[in-house]
Amino acid sequence: MRLNEFDYYDPATLEEAVELLNQKANGAIIAGGSDLLVALKQKLQTPNYLLSLDKIPSLKKVKFTENKLTLGSMVTLDDIIKSSLIQEKLPALKQAAWEVASPLLRYQATIGGNLCLNTRCRFYNQTSFWRSTRGPCFKTGGKSCHVTGTEERCYAAFCADIPPVLIAYGARINLAGMQGARTISLADFYNGEGRFPNVIAAGSGEILTGIEIPFPQTGVKSVYRKFRLRDSIDYPLVGAAVALKLDAQNKIEMITLSCTGTASGPVNIKSINEVLRGAVLKPEAIWDAAAAAAVELHPLKTSLVSPRYKRDISRVVIAEAIATAGGVTL
Ligand SMILES: Cc1cc2nc3c(=O)[nH]c(=O)nc-3n(C[C@H](O)[C@H](O)[C@H](O)COP(=O)(O)OP(=O)(O)OC[C@H]3O[C@@H](n4cnc5c(N)ncnc54)[C@H](O)[C@@H]3O)c2cc1C
Ligand code: SF4
Repeated sequence: MRLNEFDYYDPATLEEAVELLNQKANGAIIAGGSDLLVALKQKLQTPNYLLSLDKIPSLKKVKFTENKLTLGSMVTLDDIIKSSLIQEKLPALKQAAWEVASPLLRYQATIGGNLCLNTRCRFYNQTSFWRSTRGPCFKTGGKSCHVTGTEERCYAAFCADIPPVLIAYGARINLAGMQGARTISLADFYNGEGRFPNVIAAGSGEILTGIEIPFPQTGVKSVYRKFRLRDSIDYPLVGAAVALKLDAQNKIEMITLSCTGTASGPVNIKSINEVLRGAVLKPEAIWDAAAAAAVELHPLKTSLVSPRYKRDISRVVIAEAIATAGGVTL
């Protein structure tokens, strides 16, 4: 699988990078390259040039203040795993980073690349030869989706491990473009569209520069749980991130739940607060809440397992995440 020819730019400043991205057509930003290079080999993307962020020092900064952690988008997952302060203040972030791919890939992979990860589908993540036997689907320029058979819409699944955790923590992200810099909530970065799942992929001409993660209040427990087919190295079939706080009577004071792997973006589960707030955290309550949460997920057959299996397993993963965060044995 040879790569197509492309130009390569590695500017030393963010301003230069933004200008290049907006002046030259059909470029691709490369961070660690752990996902992008596979896409290039499979001819899923055929950019005229790669724009590397590797030489921009400001994107590699890690800054702790009293209330929050700010990570540059080029901070690697290995750096996150090795940080004792992240382990202490934001344990689910470390847990999710640890669950990504393998040690070698985590050494290369960045947090920005994880947040900007493309969606995945069994008809999409294949070689160009494999795909040519069926013809292009909507995501690769065809008229309809091979999963639904008809619609001009893509339902490929968003399978990054870290975004649900950061959404549960209430993270915000910094973007830089020709109009200057802006900060938005991470939840608003995703549009639930399989073809172009985030504002940058949808063509905003921006670069993700940093992530601001507020430290949870005292007493908040956070957990990330993931289920995958191959335990050694695999994307999540489903991942669930929970942040919750119990009061003195062991009742839920606050809870947030966000899932990955089941839709074209991270899914923030709305019912979880209504179902569990004020409830004493017991196994029955947890199973009921997990069942209600799983109803909000609408997986399609974009992976090798059936949507029904995915929903069933989601219920278990969600229940385990809530129970672990609340210190309950199911
Ligand atoms: C075998 C294998 C297993 C994997 N398993 C997992 C897994 O279990 N969980 C998981 O979450 N991921 C997994 N991955 C995917 C990938 O390794 C990680 O998601 C990684 O964090 C991506 O980061 P990167 O820096 O390598 O991104 P890159 O590959 O460099 O980029 C990924 C995408 O993000 C865009 N991008 C990157 N940085 C920016 C930026 N700052 N601004 C704008 N756009 C940007 C790129 O243009 C590209 O579209 C796996 C990959 C492989 C090859
Ligand atoms: S969900 Fe449909 S359009 Fe999207 S990648 Fe899969 S087959 Fe293609």
